[in-house]
Amino acid sequence: MASFKLDVVTAEKVVYSEDVDMVIAPGALGELGILPHHTPLMTTLLPGELRIKKGENELILAISGGFLEVRPTRVIVLADAAERAEEIDVTRAEAARKRAQERLAQHAPAVDEEVARAALARAAARLKVAEKIKRRKRLV
Ligand code: ATP
Repeated sequence: MASFKLDVVTAEKVVYSEDVDMVIAPGALGELGILPHHTPLMTTLLPGELRIKKGENELILAISGGFLEVRPTRVIVLADAAERAEEIDVTRAEAARKRAQERLAQHAPAVDEEVARAALARAAARLKVAEKIKRRKRLV
């Protein structure tokens, strides 16, 4: 099967760099599935799941938004933050979600709702990925 090189990087580190069969990303305009030989493109990403398929395996990363670029022979994801399921601190993400929800519930002028909504989306993405992987492990 044809494959392509996928690099997932943040400002801090290279999170993933391998040949893969497919990547499914949370594009700003909807979920984006990238197969080999996809037309070159550049798009922004929302907080969510980055699903990486390689043979029988699927790796899911929680990403906090960023950019995705499809080049002729490789795909680059420049993420604001990216974590593998096992790296996610669920207690921290739950606390971040609660904090953001409380801020949004205040409807106070001092609350930057956009910032709170973005924090909520990052926390929700982390919790979703952590929960999905936990469920998968229970099934094995
Ligand atoms: P918090 O409010 O808990 O700091 P945040 O959404 O503001 O969360 P980010 O700014 O997105 O955090 O990320 C800062 C760094 O912390 C990144 O390296 C990111 O991977 C890491 N990080 C954030 N939340 C978690 C978490 N729940 N588990 C593991 N790593 C996390």
